[in-house]
Amino acid sequence: MEWRRARRSGNIEDRRGLSGGAAAGGIGIAGAAAVLVGVFVFGIDPQEMLSIVSGQGDPAAVQQKAVVGTPEDDAGQFVDVVETSTNEVWSSLFEADGAAYNRPAGVVLYDNATRTGCGAGQAAMGPFYCPADQKIYLDLTFWQELEGEFGAKGEFARAYVLAHEVGHHVQGLQNTMDRAKAMGMQGETSGAVRLELQADCYAGVWAARASQTSGGRLAFTNQDIEDGLKAAAAVGDDTIQRRTQGQVVPDAFTHGTAAQRMRWFRKGYDAGDPISCDTFGADRL
Ligand SMILES: [Zn+2]
Repeated sequence: MEWRRARRSGNIEDRRGLSGGAAAGGIGIAGAAAVLVGVFVFGIDPQEMLSIVSGQGDPAAVQQKAVVGTPEDDAGQFVDVVETSTNEVWSSLFEADGAAYNRPAGVVLYDNATRTGCGAGQAAMGPFYCPADQKIYLDLTFWQELEGEFGAKGEFARAYVLAHEVGHHVQGLQNTMDRAKAMGMQGETSGAVRLELQADCYAGVWAARASQTSGGRLAFTNQDIEDGLKAAAAVGDDTIQRRTQGQVVPDAFTHGTAAQRMRWFRKGYDAGDPISCDTFGADRL
């Protein structure tokens, strides 16, 4: 994956090093728990990760300390490049449709725990998108988890994760989330699964268009796309359930199977057009 010459927009809020939740406005990890309302986590069932706690602390504390811009380190620059590219691609697709891409999805980098517009976010949840503040929350230790626990290697696997989350931002702008909720948030053909598979398809659309939109400064090899497909398979509900529970329970699906996640990513990539991502109208997921 070639990305170093690609554009950075500096839309990254860097809360790393703010000594975890405590500095971020009173979100202790001890005593723990988070209220996260309506977030879209990556590959992990939110129901299992969350419990209830009342909000506390001063949200302003975070804003005062966090730095917004392009991070200096490699990992932070990579996130900026992918964030910038995904937003450029979607902004041009919206424009072609006569719609306004009102606001790019921002990324917040943090350690351990942080305050979000959806409640207290924790690294254990993996990367997630919060519709209330239109931001993606990412603790970079997830990259190690992705490679180690999920076995998804390569830079493109990381890019796919980010592009998937930006896909949720796009769905937010398209008001798709309410439609999904009305269809139920668990089970093989649930609204949740349709939403997640569409976000995978949108990640594929981005991958198909990123090179051209960036003037060639962002480029993927066939191996990169293979890495993306492998990552999609690694975070399939069946793959995760088999690994963590030893059995597959379709009624508890929230993201779709490995085969489905690969199929929809591939569909978006082959078509390069969000029209190909109608998981809500599709007979077969
Ligand atoms: Zn998702």
